[in-house]
Amino acid sequence: MSDAPMRTCAGCGRKAPQHQLLRFAAVGARLAAGRTLPGRGVYTCRRLVCFERAQERRGFSRVLRTTVVIDPALARIYTDGDG
Ligand SMILES: [Zn+2]
Repeated sequence: MSDAPMRTCAGCGRKAPQHQLLRFAAVGARLAAGRTLPGRGVYTCRRLVCFERAQERRGFSRVLRTTVVIDPALARIYTDGDG
């Protein structure tokens, strides 16, 4: 699996295979989670701390190159099981 696409966590900067990370994209001006959402994606590790850090550092908006509103409820996907 050495050729798995690598992505960078917007929180901690760690590079990891895409399937190990959570993907987000901008839907309108809101951040939404989803592997199949169209457009530019932004990734974080499956750790809440990375989501929080990306939020604090505006990592989502920076990677998406657009300002997105981040619904705090998105944090739930980090704590509800590991899908
Ligand atoms: Zn991370």
